[in-house]
Formats: sequence, structure tokens, C-alpha cells
Amino acid sequence: MKQKGLLIVISGPSGAGKGTICRALIEKRPKIHVSVSATTRNPRKGEEDGINYYFLSKETFEFRIQREEFLEYARVYDNYYGTPKKNVLKRLEKGEDVLLEIDTEGALQVKEQFPEGVLIFILPPKLEDLKSRIKGRGTETEADIKKRLDCAKEEIQRIHEYHYGVVNDDVDRATRDVEAILRSEKLKTNRNYQEIIHQYL
Ligand code: 5GP
Repeated sequence: MKQKGLLIVISGPSGAGKGTICRALIEKRPKIHVSVSATTRNPRKGEEDGINYYFLSKETFEFRIQREEFLEYARVYDNYYGTPKKNVLKRLEKGEDVLLEIDTEGALQVKEQFPEGVLIFILPPKLEDLKSRIKGRGTETEADIKKRLDCAKEEIQRIHEYHYGVVNDDVDRATRDVEAILRSEKLKTNRNYQEIIHQYL
């Protein structure tokens, strides 16, 4: 009997480095499938449709909400973001691990639907680091930066809803922490119960 794939949810405030950790994780574990989200925000320089996001109009996004095509969705900074459902479910069934890099609201929706999902929150070493990282990206206005920082504080308040918290003071170490979490999650007896019974009894 084949174990279902792990549904891995990674959240954290903008600028905490969750994107960097996710990329480092995928480099080490290329079999993990990264779900491509849909969004109504405009593409940033260098972003490609279907690679970074599916860039949709508000109308199309709302149409897809009605058709229940999203596993979860949320409004973040005045835009919609959502995880297309079909591909994620298909891959989990096939035993593939799927990674969602989504905000807190979306993560909690996933937790309700998939209590077996693994929720990991990435923390910046200090709040000031967030500010400089968001600024350093050079893509946001002052007002956007403030909005993102306020949002970060709200998100951190909900960390108790996550199963694990990883501090990103060093990308290599933080990535190893995430790998360790995934390894021990896979060894949990409740994930392997049927397999063990089948093999030993
Ligand atoms: P950004 O605009 O910087 O790419 O992403 C902004 C925020 O939206 C990040 O916190 C990111 O994790 C979140 N996000 C990206 N995709 C999704 C998604 O599919 N669902 C939800 N709920 N949040 C998402």
C-alpha cells in the first residue's frame, strides 16, 4: 500500500525568506512538487505566467471561486491568491509531496480540510530584518512596505496554529530544519499504519 504524499504548507511574513528556503528545499529535494498559485496581482519584473503564478483577472478568479476550483484562497494586500485544487489532489494521491507557499489565512483553510497537512511557519530573526529585506527588493512603495509589515505582525500572532516554527537566521540551517521536519512527519505511525499492518500482520 502506497503512502499518500505529504501536503506541506509554508507560510511566513513577506521578507522572512520563505521563498528562498522553498527554493533551497526544492534544489535538495527535486521530487517535491511546488504548486503554482493563481493571483490577480500584476506580474513583477521577470515573473512568468504559469511558472511563478497563473496571473488572472479578478473576474476570472471570482468565476473559479464559484466553480470551487480552489483548495483555498485569500485576499492578500487587495489581491486574490489561491491554490488550484485539481493538480494538488492528483499528486497527493500518487504519493507525491506537494508544497504550498501561501499566507496564514489560506494555510488555516488547508488545515481544516487536510488535518494531516504539515504547517510550517518561517520567522525572520528580527522584525527589522523584514523591513530591510522588503525594501531591498525595490519593488514596493512606502505604503506597500508599511502594509506588509503590519500584516507580518498579524501573521506572527497566529503562529500557534502552525505545527512548526523555523527561524531563518541562516538559509542552509533553516532548510535543514525543514528537511528534518519532513523526514519525521513521514515516519509518523499514523501515516504508515496500513502499510505496517499489511507488512507485519
Ligand atoms: P507575493 O505577492 O509577494 O508573491 O505574495 C504575497 C503573499 O501571498 C505571500 O505571503 C504568499 O505566501 C501569499 N500567497 C501566494 N500564493 C498564495 C495562494 O495560493 N494562496 C494564499 N492564500 N496565499 C498565497
